[in-house]
Amino acid sequence: MIEKAEQLLSQYFGYPSFRRGQKEIIENVLAGKHTAGILPTGGGKSICYQIPACILSGVSIVISPLISLMKDQVDSLTQVGIPAAYINSSLTSQEITERIDKTRNEFYKILYISPERLESDSFRNIIKDLPISLIAIDEAHCISQWGHDFRPSYMKIFPLIKQLSASPVVLALTATATPIVKKDICSSLKISEEDCFVTGFERENLQFKVVKGQNRSDFIRKYVDNNKSESGIVYASTRKDVDQIYEQFKRSGVKAGKYHAGLSDVEREKHQDLFLNDQISVMVASNAFGMGIDKSNVRYVLHYQLPKNMESYYQEAGRAGRDGLISECILLFSPQDIQLQRFLIDQNQMNDERKNQELVKLQQMADYCYTENCLQRYIQHYFGEIEHSDKCGKCSSCTDDRTAVDVTIEAQMVLSCVIRTGERFGKSIISQVLTGSSNKKVKQLEFDKLSTYGILKDRSMKSITEFIDFLTSEQLIGVSGGQYPILFVTNKGKEVLLGKQDVLKKEKIKIQSLESNGELF
Ligand code: ADP
Repeated sequence: MIEKAEQLLSQYFGYPSFRRGQKEIIENVLAGKHTAGILPTGGGKSICYQIPACILSGVSIVISPLISLMKDQVDSLTQVGIPAAYINSSLTSQEITERIDKTRNEFYKILYISPERLESDSFRNIIKDLPISLIAIDEAHCISQWGHDFRPSYMKIFPLIKQLSASPVVLALTATATPIVKKDICSSLKISEEDCFVTGFERENLQFKVVKGQNRSDFIRKYVDNNKSESGIVYASTRKDVDQIYEQFKRSGVKAGKYHAGLSDVEREKHQDLFLNDQISVMVASNAFGMGIDKSNVRYVLHYQLPKNMESYYQEAGRAGRDGLISECILLFSPQDIQLQRFLIDQNQMNDERKNQELVKLQQMADYCYTENCLQRYIQHYFGEIEHSDKCGKCSSCTDDRTAVDVTIEAQMVLSCVIRTGERFGKSIISQVLTGSSNKKVKQLEFDKLSTYGILKDRSMKSITEFIDFLTSEQLIGVSGGQYPILFVTNKGKEVLLGKQDVLKKEKIKIQSLESNGELF
């Protein structure tokens, strides 16, 4: 069967071989097993259902929330000779009936439908007797309350599958499933753990970098100036920042465009087209930009601020280097960004459970900025990819050639202080106790009587709070709570306290100026 799949890959799509993960997923589906595939954006998820759809009898239904992309998908399938159609709210009821009739007569191989359709009982009744051999669920993380984009209509998918008279194979696909979301997808759709394939998160041509302690706008200006002939995207969190960076570029003669939800459709489309056709080199954008954009020669993606979670970051950064050539993904980080994101989460109307989940994701995003381990591996680990190769050798952690020193004793001092203060306080109180501050609160709580009081008095508050961030990224300290986070010692931290594990940290060196190529650490 896989030979047939390979033949169709070349016949319809003109590709000589499958990418990592595609072959395993297709083989599993063709063996009739419910399957989950977690592949990064651009990893080639569509082919995972398009090829089985051509081999299996009857029709394959694809549930996709991206209505704007359905038409493009259907057009390109039709062009290569695969009969396909879509059903969504843009059609009249007569058009829908016609398409269902044609599906019943096995005219189409692939039928795209939006998840909202499943909310209608009558629609579910109409499709229940169709000869459906495969149900592919795109953006399957929407099924999970722990995902970053939960959609209630996705909850209707499993009841629908049970209602169908044919017993189709189920294929769930997504780019952004953390282990907990993956578990949720599998249990909601009755997919066994061994039929879940997580792969391909490594993008060998991408160089991930975290830049701290720089003036952001100077950094961006100089970076773009040094890369004038290249295409790139600068992501900023607010419309105001997008506008400001764009104006700054225009003033310095950089050919830039801008994109955010506050612009008219016409303006957005104009800037997008200029960028896609290489008439401008930089796109300054909010996270509204990029969905469905397939521009292959983006050489860099700069993030002006910390995104709210790794899912968003990887999706946006991953738009660099789709052509496989070396490209940079640089995140400009300042600790205040975490405060801002915490505040936004706190202001949001979501329930407490969800807020906590968002805070955990934010902490994991911050850990990405503080870790001294390989950033590429951090990403793979975050997305639950089990097979890791060696370090990437290219990211700002791997290329940081400062020597690692043993900081086990300092780590033990900090961890012990967290425990002695009852694991009820945040970074600032802990740092105040360690530096021996005469702050009123410290005295009131009688923390000046603790053995850890003033134990690091030769260090600055700032260096201790940074050290706590480092210990958090190493998962020796955990963080809980909302606006006012509280520190606790993890099991791994306890091992350090017991002397069963050492802690190594790169030595701090003076930050060089950008003129000497910007020191990344
Ligand atoms: P995703 O949905 O995972 O973001 P797509 O399915 O849109 O990704 O695929 C991204 C690009 O990769 C498309 O242009 C697609 O044609 C191409 N592609 C998919 N599979 C292969 C393959 N085996 N070899 C080469 N290119 C591929």
